[in-house]
Amino acid sequence: MISRLDQKTTNTLYSHFARELASAGFSGDIELGYADRTVLATDNSIYQVLPEGVLYPRSTADISKILTLTNKSAYHQIVVSPRGGGTGTNGQSLTSGFMVDTSRYMHQVLEINTRERWARVQSGVVKDYLNELAAKEGLFFAPELSTSNRATVGGMVNTDASGQGSVVYGKTRHHVLELTSVLADGTVWNSSPVDNDQLEQLCQREDRIGEIYNTLKKTHCEHQQQVSDVFPNLNRNLTGYDLANIVNKDNQHDLNAILCGSEGTLAIISEIKVNLLPIPKHSALVLVFYRSFQDSLQDAQTLMSAVPDSIETIDSRVLGLAKADSVWESVKDFFPGQRDDIDGINFVEFTGDNEAEIQQGIDRLKAVLEQPVSIWRAGHSVVNGTGNVKKIWNMRKQAVGLLGNMKGDARPIPFVEDVAVPPENLADFIQAFRALLDSHHLSYGMFGHVDAGVLHVRPAIDMKDPEQEKLVRLISDDVAALARSYGGVLWGEHGKGIRSEYAPDFFAELYPVLQEIKGVFDPYNQLNPGKIATPASEPVQLLKIDEVPTRGQQDREIERNAFAAFTSSLYCNGNGACFNYNPNSAMCPTWKATYDRTQSPKGRSGLVREWLRLQTAAGADIAGESHKIRQAGPLYNGGQKLINLVNKWRGEEDFSHQVYGALDNCMSCKSCAGQCPIQVNVPDLRSRYFELYHGRYPRPVKHHVAGLLEPMLPVLARIKPAYNLVMGWSVANTLASKTIGLQDIPVITSSSPVNDCCRAGAAIANRTLLNAIPDSERDKTVIIIQDAFTSFFETPLLTDLVELLIRLGYRPLIAPYRPNGKVLHVYGFLGRFEKIARTNGEELKVLADSGISLVGIDAAVTLTYRDEYREVMGDRSPEVLLLSEWFAKQSETIRQLQLSLASAEAEDFVLLGHCTEISNLPAAPAQWQQLFSDLGLKLTYKATGCCGMAGIYGHETRNQETSRKLYDMSWKEVVQNPEHNGRLVATGYSCRSQVKRYGDGKIPHPVQALLQVMKQQALS
Ligand SMILES: Cc1cc2nc3c(=O)[nH]c(=O)nc-3n(C[C@H](O)[C@H](O)[C@H](O)COP(=O)(O)OP(=O)(O)OC[C@H]3O[C@@H](n4cnc5c(N)ncnc54)[C@H](O)[C@@H]3O)c2cc1C
Ligand code: SF4
Ligand code: SF4
Repeated sequence: MISRLDQKTTNTLYSHFARELASAGFSGDIELGYADRTVLATDNSIYQVLPEGVLYPRSTADISKILTLTNKSAYHQIVVSPRGGGTGTNGQSLTSGFMVDTSRYMHQVLEINTRERWARVQSGVVKDYLNELAAKEGLFFAPELSTSNRATVGGMVNTDASGQGSVVYGKTRHHVLELTSVLADGTVWNSSPVDNDQLEQLCQREDRIGEIYNTLKKTHCEHQQQVSDVFPNLNRNLTGYDLANIVNKDNQHDLNAILCGSEGTLAIISEIKVNLLPIPKHSALVLVFYRSFQDSLQDAQTLMSAVPDSIETIDSRVLGLAKADSVWESVKDFFPGQRDDIDGINFVEFTGDNEAEIQQGIDRLKAVLEQPVSIWRAGHSVVNGTGNVKKIWNMRKQAVGLLGNMKGDARPIPFVEDVAVPPENLADFIQAFRALLDSHHLSYGMFGHVDAGVLHVRPAIDMKDPEQEKLVRLISDDVAALARSYGGVLWGEHGKGIRSEYAPDFFAELYPVLQEIKGVFDPYNQLNPGKIATPASEPVQLLKIDEVPTRGQQDREIERNAFAAFTSSLYCNGNGACFNYNPNSAMCPTWKATYDRTQSPKGRSGLVREWLRLQTAAGADIAGESHKIRQAGPLYNGGQKLINLVNKWRGEEDFSHQVYGALDNCMSCKSCAGQCPIQVNVPDLRSRYFELYHGRYPRPVKHHVAGLLEPMLPVLARIKPAYNLVMGWSVANTLASKTIGLQDIPVITSSSPVNDCCRAGAAIANRTLLNAIPDSERDKTVIIIQDAFTSFFETPLLTDLVELLIRLGYRPLIAPYRPNGKVLHVYGFLGRFEKIARTNGEELKVLADSGISLVGIDAAVTLTYRDEYREVMGDRSPEVLLLSEWFAKQSETIRQLQLSLASAEAEDFVLLGHCTEISNLPAAPAQWQQLFSDLGLKLTYKATGCCGMAGIYGHETRNQETSRKLYDMSWKEVVQNPEHNGRLVATGYSCRSQVKRYGDGKIPHPVQALLQVMKQQALS
């Protein structure tokens, strides 16, 4: 049996503070639970630091309450670290004190002024969300970063973020007009550049503001020369306390130059006024290919003479990883087909307000490409159109995440990934950098901003191995020195964070000036201490890169077999792609609906990692326990489970309950498995966890009911009238909801789906029949594999498919119904699932061995044959195609039928996808579009998020609010849009039932829409 786990509680000073904060009228959330703290103990860096608590303010006033209280002498030991999206790569937001997370509530865009081209936002606003709203006015917030769909503007300001396009658009600070900050004593201050008179007035003040401006003035007067000697003149100048720009080009004193890039060490920023620019109307990319990555770097300077907006580069490793990722589907057409001799690509962008301008840029570049050079270019291609350019940039944005998806224990990690050197030195610097990594036999991928002299490099290191961990120090020291020898800086893009330890050496005599600035803002070193600079008066010094606890150190405490059992989901590197804010992306619906990071793939993975570590420490044998549970079945540990349940009711603590809470709300939609760059598979994690947890605590009744659904449906179908009478009765619905926690259970649509199919023209697939089919007819035969949802709750779709196939000249066979086991897997009945998978899998294998294709209708069920069945059966698992995949294979044959179904009545259709299908088979929409086009019809794909149903999730009573919220976030508007009337088709059974359940009508499956058009045409 797994062990009961104690959890680390918040220390007395912090819990005392939390109580006083609550009584001071703090209106946000105060979380001291171990789960919340564990989830926020990591960012995208190699580090893991457990905060004492997490504070989620709702307003500037709330932040002021926090800092007014920390300023009291009784609380001078309390430290706080602001946090936005938590995507920092160097531990910037990690703290052992309180984390102040603005992303949960402070995410409003407060105002967009189109005429004056600015926006005022709360600091927790995600950058892409701001740009979504600004785009409606033809404007955008220009600084770019790969994490733009989850990083906050507050985080960007504090790391002075920049990325692709920085040569034209600069860094975040170039677009900051005004900051509202809360200072360490709770004072709220609005800062914007001030002229000399205003500065003098501010310097007269006798408060913290006066001290700050006096220090600013003094620094500028006394250290100008030193500053220009030390601060390199780079596009990506170093981040943090930008002394070089205290006085701006209009001769104004700008406090924001110091605040931007200060990583939360000087103040907590609550609101930001940013400059917006008009969106360029046109853009194009030229992709220049090379056989050597070094050549691509060397060529960048030559290409710059064509004056493009930006040049980005990737190497063959990144390209290879992109090809294996879901993102490839959207860009594959822009790359040369079968060429595997490409080792580097430069992406050269031109933007402009008219097409002629773009063409001029492309012509300039073509002229450059025609000039003789010593390096060998391997061709180029042009990508026209803003939409296409966006797709390529999106692929490029995913590169860092993709690098993390290398297999094995050694994983690419960030610690020397953003060195900036003068662009003309980049090729030589990278050669030396590579030699350094090669001397340690490390593998790595490279990509980045060649125009700005920044290349991202993440060496693959197994941080679980103490010997390999030492390389972090060795390589960091060498790279910091190497960067300086090429006139560059270690911190060129992603900020300093825990790498601040190199600052005293780099700034030399200027470092005390940084200390003075820190001291005047934060005299007691309470704001994100140990980073950028510490006040000279404080004994606490900067953090050291090898003295802060790492994730690898925690992971090595997990027993090997336990780690191996959960390996599908433990390599989360915290890149945060699962926090995508966009309601129309499939990625994690439960996070979007709650803004609670424990309800996300990252949160769930982090919690289970910690749980495994604690279980190992408590002596539990995780792998052995799973084995025992599977062998013993439901009666395992019966008596003890009841005792444990009683103890739970009595309030006995167990960290396992908190982990269970996070996993229980997961919808098992598998978007994480498909879209997380590391393919963190939370449904798999959840099943394994449920199995173990319920080896200690009894299961709720609904698990057993859901687990019996698949085998019981054929039996219930026989008593269909009685069953439907009960299910249609509102009292029964309420009763089911109150007792087993399930509601709106669908009615059964057929007492024998197989008979219905036979009536529609199919035959039952069995070995005798299959053997009798002549070879010449096998290509035109297809076996439909039934699933519980379609067969019993939506039989007309099954029979419509049969009819459509016949009309297209195929011979449909129907496989006898067998439970697939999907529901058992979802609930972690893994022993029972294995048995079903083996039996069902072997039977399907017999059918598949006939050489005739097997197809499944429901994506979630069909995909189990290639994922979960493979776990059980290995290579023996049967190949079952999704309908869209099978139709794609038949494209040529169907096209040859020359059935042009287009007519005045058959309008263009709009496809809504099923999230499991879209995120795990990104080609599906294109495959359906191909089928419609083969039949002379047009199908447009409309990206949506989760509909809120996801199998049984939407039927659970406790999930009703979230289920509805998710539907309203993405589907409602599309479904209710009058322009879509009668034109929508949806591939998911869950999605179609959700639309019906919320009274928004009926949406057919694409197959049904096609059949309908065919029938109408036959009549006319
Ligand atoms: C895959 C990947 C790709 C990346 N690509 C880029 C890139 O292209 N360009 C780039 O510049 N960076 C990049 N980064 C780094 C990171 O995304 C940026 O530094 C980003 O600006 C951080 O924003 P955030 O909201 O996640 O901030 P967090 O990580 O939460 O915080 C970053 C810092 O800002 C401070 N902070 C946050 N909010 C506030 C506030 N309200 N007041 C005061 N301080 C605050 C924190 O204390 C911390 O020091 C990348 C990271 C990853 C994981
Ligand atoms: S779960 Fe995946 S997407 Fe989310 S933070 Fe972890 S690695 Fe990134
Ligand atoms: S399965 Fe879906 S709900 Fe669960 S963690 Fe993954 S994306 Fe989120």
